[in-house]
Parts: sequence; structure tokens; C-alpha cells
Amino acid sequence: MTKILVTGGAGYIGSHACKMLARAGYEPVTFDNVSTGWEDAVKFGPFERGDLLDRARLDEVFATHCPATVMHFAAYSDVGESMRDPAKYWRNNVLGSLNLIEAAVDAGCLNFVFSSTCATYGDQDGVVLDEECVQAPINAYGASKRAIEDMLDNFGQTHGLRHVIFRYFNVAGADPEGEVGEFHRPETHLIPLMLDAIEGQRPALTIYGTDYDTPDGTCVRDYVHVLDLVDAHVRGLKWLEDGKGSRVFNLGTGKGFSVRQVVEHSSIVTNREVPVNEGERRPGDAVALVSGSTRAEQELGWRPERSTLETMIADAWRWHQSGHYER
Ligand code: UDP
Repeated sequence: MTKILVTGGAGYIGSHACKMLARAGYEPVTFDNVSTGWEDAVKFGPFERGDLLDRARLDEVFATHCPATVMHFAAYSDVGESMRDPAKYWRNNVLGSLNLIEAAVDAGCLNFVFSSTCATYGDQDGVVLDEECVQAPINAYGASKRAIEDMLDNFGQTHGLRHVIFRYFNVAGADPEGEVGEFHRPETHLIPLMLDAIEGQRPALTIYGTDYDTPDGTCVRDYVHVLDLVDAHVRGLKWLEDGKGSRVFNLGTGKGFSVRQVVEHSSIVTNREVPVNEGERRPGDAVALVSGSTRAEQELGWRPERSTLETMIADAWRWHQSGHYER
């Protein structure tokens, strides 16, 4: 069976990717330091505990498994934290990725699928965000991801590394079969925080800023179901296997929802009140991030089928209410 090295396979998106890969006939090998992931989320293939900053450990794992492709999810991804502690993002995300990319090249593993982000575009009022758009990140998280994109380009030119880069918009939802789901500690993402507030596990959801230049004053984001997102990754992997070369794809639906709209939908889907506070803006937040690209649909044949707000919230809610959520 073809092995895929999945960094961050114990995390939210990585664990869903492992399930999808296993279903598609691959063997996902998880490499994870479980700093933000969970060992019990590694269910679909071997687990290799390790840190991206440990080059010797990476070499050992490449030698043991000889993966055909790397899928690189492992990273810190909290925008607010990246503004308080940029060094953490540059060290782990950028240095860690450099180690990984060098180890892959040295091992002759030249197919690389990378989790990037729409945060690399920064705040571009009214501009349609497609893949050709200028990248001007406004937070350290986005800057760290853009640096890794540049690194992949350079290693491609010099060492023949081929990459598919996915720039994610906002990922939400959970495996509808309930085997894996979203679980961060501390939690920082809108939908799980809101579900916590609905269930009384925190007093209220704080809306970060209500004076933005948007129809209702709150930030707008483009939400994608995690299953649709990882489906695109399997398509990206096949793209590389077919020798189609390096390519960048946005993963968003092209529809934006404000924080208040997400709150309203959550109240309807769960049939519960959402306790809400109105707070200050969060440093590093872009006003609106909505994909304006159909490249993934056109070139990968990607169809985001579960990415309605209702389905994403319903799947997240089912996971949230299952015993799995409480570790
Ligand atoms: N947000 C919020 N309150 C929270 C968490 C998030 O108002 O407790 C807002 C945040 O400002 C952004 C949106 O919800 O506009 C999505 O934030 P999240 O952290 O989930 O993802 P990000 O857009 O930072 O990747």
C-alpha cells in the first residue's frame, strides 16, 4: 500500500485526512508531537511520535516508511496567539517545515501537499481573493505560512520537489460518522467556542469586534467542511501522482458569513440560545476573507458538498455532544 506521511495526523484536519486517505486505499503514517493533537485520534494507520524540530527523528521516520508523498498539516494556527508570540510561529511552523522539506528531499520523497491559509492574503478590502492575488499577511501566522510557500517554490526549482499548496479559508464541522472531530485545548475557533457556550461549558461567546465595515459590523469568513477540505487533499495527491506539477488552490466556497450570522445559524441548528458578549477587535483579524476562486472545482473536480453552514454546525454539534469530545 502506498504510504503517505501525514504530519499533524493527530490533529483536527490531519485526523480527518488520515481517515479519507485510508478510505482511498493509502496508508497514512502520522507524524505528530501531540502538542495540540490527540494520540487517540490516530486510528487509521501507524503513529510515529516526533517533533518537526528534530531532524534526526524525521530522517528515521522517512527511512522506516519510505512514504511516496508528504501531507504537511502540523503547525500552530491561532491568529491571536501568533500576534502575542510570533517567535513560536516562526520557530515551529517555518523552521519545522524547513526540516521536514529537507528531510523529504534527502529521502527522495518529492511530492508534497501543504496546508496553507487565506491568512497569507492579508486584508484586501473588496478584492476577489483568488490564487493570483498578492499575498500580504497581516499576522505572524499568515506570514509563517507564506514563508513556507516560498520555501516550497525554491526547493522545487533547485531539488525538483513538487507541491500542491492549499490555502484554506475557515475549516469547520466534523466527521459525520463521529470517529474524529475538532478538539483544541485551549479552544480558539468560533464554532466550537460557541457550542461550548451553548452547553454552558463557558459563560458566553465573545464577538471580537462589532464595528467592522461589514453589513452587521462583524468579521466575515468563508467556511468549508473539513470532509470537503480533506477530499480536496486526496485529489491534490492524485494530481501530483499524475505528474501534473506544482499548483496552488484556494479551498473556500465563495460565500461569506459574518460572526453574527454564524451565531444565528447555530442557534437555529441546535435549537438553543447562544450566550453572547460583544468585545474588542482581535489583533491580526482581517475584516473579510472569502475565496473568489473556482480553480479547485475546475482543475481538481472538487465539489464542496457538505459545506453549508447548517451541515457544518450540525456535524460539529453532533461531535460536541458525543462522549468523544470530553477527553
Ligand atoms: N471569533 C469571535 N470570537 C471568538 C473566536 C472567533 O468573534 O471567540 C471570530 C474571529 O474574530 C473571526 C471569526 O470568528 O472573525 C473566525 O475566527 P476563528 O478563530 O475561528 O478562525 P480564523 O478566521 O482566525 O482562522
